[in-house]
Amino acid sequence: MKYYKKALIAFEVMMSLQASAQNLVFPHHFHESLLTIDSHTDTPMVLLRSETDFMKNNCSSPYSKVDYPRMLKGGLDAVFFAVFTPQGSLDSLSYHKAYILARKMFARIDSLIQHNSDKLALATSANDIQKNYNSGKLSILIGIENGYPLNMKLDRVKEFYDLGARYITLCHSKNNQLCSSSTDKNQEEGLSDFGKEVVREMNRLGMMVDVSHISDKAFGDVISLTSKPVIASHSSARAICDHPRNLSDKMLEAIAKNGGVVQVCILSDYVKKIPPDLRYDSAFHILQNRFHQFENLTDTEKKLARKEIDSLQKVYPRQLASVHDLVDHIDHIVKVAGIDHVGIGSDFDGGGGLADCKDVSEIPNITSELIRRGYSAEEIQKIWGGNLMRVLQAQ
Ligand SMILES: [Zn+2]
Repeated sequence: MKYYKKALIAFEVMMSLQASAQNLVFPHHFHESLLTIDSHTDTPMVLLRSETDFMKNNCSSPYSKVDYPRMLKGGLDAVFFAVFTPQGSLDSLSYHKAYILARKMFARIDSLIQHNSDKLALATSANDIQKNYNSGKLSILIGIENGYPLNMKLDRVKEFYDLGARYITLCHSKNNQLCSSSTDKNQEEGLSDFGKEVVREMNRLGMMVDVSHISDKAFGDVISLTSKPVIASHSSARAICDHPRNLSDKMLEAIAKNGGVVQVCILSDYVKKIPPDLRYDSAFHILQNRFHQFENLTDTEKKLARKEIDSLQKVYPRQLASVHDLVDHIDHIVKVAGIDHVGIGSDFDGGGGLADCKDVSEIPNITSELIRRGYSAEEIQKIWGGNLMRVLQAQ
């Protein structure tokens, strides 16, 4: 593909220049020449907040890690926005509420793109991403995080596909009507009968099945059922950081065999276990009790609680994992699954962020670390989107 060539030339120039001058500016030039894709951000949640304008730099807001100016600065060319709905009860009223929220997010994404069509464009295929890249526009893709708003209606898969969604993360942090979650009880339940129908329908339509968040049992069920390569849109390696949200070596091997891709997640808790700050924890505990465990709060109380949490975090800043720690995951996945099965899904705006990669503007630091560890230009392009493009094309 075209972008490989451009990246290769930039890489060769950079390496020859670096040989004479150890200058860290050059990796950034190389990074800019790559076609980069982030497979998971929760930016639609931020879009729904009236005070943030995606086209302006919102770096002063603690809630926003992705916007147009910072995507340009960080050289991110394409991003999957997650239409995320939190898990609630499995009854028709709750299903309906989740569906309304999901449709609201779709509408908000659509209006953002329509109002800025000279700078942004929806992409629903690998060709779209390439076309938008060539015309200097940033690609917005859509994934659905949590199959909850599908209700028990199979035709909603096509409805969401027609609205532009190209993956569904089958569940979130709790079990739902499709499958069991990696962070809930009764994990052995795996994929439900309805979940199986959804996977078949996604395969038929050409929509990627996202195995992030699902339990190990559900993962196994998906792998044996799917006829197409799957993605883990934001999951890392369990061998490096032992967390149920991450994938075991057996799972990494299964994804490699399936032809899919694991997009490492840069949420600090999944990257490295950092010892807790007991002073922060006890202060937070007191706050939590004062605000009745943050349940049934009025809007004014919610704002006040948020403000107090923010100032608490300023007093006791959280220690975060680093880009170095993250690339340990990439190295491991490459070792176990191979270079063709790894990519990056930041989870920005959903908790993602590292000490030296706090928002999208700092993603070139990942490329610098990959170069430092000896990855070739071609390998780095695979990690930054080439592999995901292949999986998207294979649907
Ligand atoms: Zn998630």
